Amino acid sequence: MDHFEFRGGELYCEDVPLARIAETVGTPVYVYSTATLERHFQVLRDALTAAGVTGAGGGPPLIAFAVKANSNVAVLATLARLGAGADTVSEGEIRRALAAGVPPEKIVFSGVGKTEAEIAFALKAGVAEINVESEPEMATVSRVARGLGVRAQVAIRVNPDVAAGGHAKIATGKSENKFGVSFAEAERLYAKASNDAGLRPVGVACHIGSQITDLAPMEAAFSKMRGLVERLRAEGMNVERLDLGGGLGVPYFNQPEPPSPADYAAMIARAMKGLDVAFAFEPGRMIAANAGVLVSEVIHVHVRPEGRRFLVIDAGMNDLIRPAMYDAFHDIRPLKPREDEPEVYDVVGPICETGDTFTRDRRLPPLQAGDLIAFMSAGAYGAVMSSEYNSRLLVPEVLVKGDQFAVIRPRPTYEDMLALERPAPWLG
Ligand code: PLP
Repeated sequence: MDHFEFRGGELYCEDVPLARIAETVGTPVYVYSTATLERHFQVLRDALTAAGVTGAGGGPPLIAFAVKANSNVAVLATLARLGAGADTVSEGEIRRALAAGVPPEKIVFSGVGKTEAEIAFALKAGVAEINVESEPEMATVSRVARGLGVRAQVAIRVNPDVAAGGHAKIATGKSENKFGVSFAEAERLYAKASNDAGLRPVGVACHIGSQITDLAPMEAAFSKMRGLVERLRAEGMNVERLDLGGGLGVPYFNQPEPPSPADYAAMIARAMKGLDVAFAFEPGRMIAANAGVLVSEVIHVHVRPEGRRFLVIDAGMNDLIRPAMYDAFHDIRPLKPREDEPEVYDVVGPICETGDTFTRDRRLPPLQAGDLIAFMSAGAYGAVMSSEYNSRLLVPEVLVKGDQFAVIRPRPTYEDMLALERPAPWLG
């Protein structure tokens, strides 16, 4: 459930009409709902707790929000206030999590290509664990930790070789994907880490893909993870934590319905029955996707002689790349829809790429220049993937809470954009 709804024929985010935000901040603009972010976090935590899936000391499991899904510091702070941790994949993301008030002991550092500088930063910050994705990386973590005179807490990320995820580009759990190590390697690396003065292995981790709408591949992967924990313990190793990643799909309009958090939690409880370990999760999309929209204005409608109608809008693939990159579907709602017969549109942005097409042949209420529309379910993997391509200004972000709203990342000016560049000395 989200907090975007029509009231008196107008689309609201909580108690604020989206058109008011567009008037004040301009378009395109991302708008996030605090109540929706909070609700999604609480629904997941409550479902896991009710199913008996617990964290350290029998308390709630660590829910480390995947910062890659939405890294705005105000969004992270909203979740941190509820007790969320952060799953991070770069020094920048760790810095954002810390700036948002996430305690270091709730920060997980994942990712296949961590640099020595990033590892050192993470260790100095005191993050909860580094999820090690390969043997060379483990050697680097050990070297950096020994150099700093500390023992790095590590979890070994396993690639369970299970196919899952809404699109090939977001499936991460097959052996041909670059993430993690095999079960056999994980056992060997765990034993090696246990004898390494720079490392303290604390657990194992997996993340098999994103926008997963079928629990079966997850259950298969999680059962294998359980087997790994049991084998490691049987070999006398200390395994305190089991990080099951993120990946739970969300209801994108007209798309396959994902399992409910309660079904997800029940599946985990079933697969892990009797296993005494501190569970951690790294959800991104299920918390943020339906908590955000991208609002855009229609520039004009271009009708070709053969009849194709292009709705040309002021948001481009540089602002929301999911349709171009993953063929993703976003429901599109006019902020003040007319009641007339719908028209069929190709919705396109201003970027000089044919790929800058959000959708083709979409039936929408009739629209004209100046009308405002919202791309729904744009709160995850939206603004974080935006760019200045075609020298367009980075899209701003707004957070709503009740009847208030705040600009949480302003639109830069053209002067800001040009100020980042330097003339080469030989150009005078
Ligand atoms: N954890 C890791 C390691 C990831 O790579 C990702 C996404 O790519 C996530 C968590 C979050 O996934 P999702 O947003 O589908 O929950």
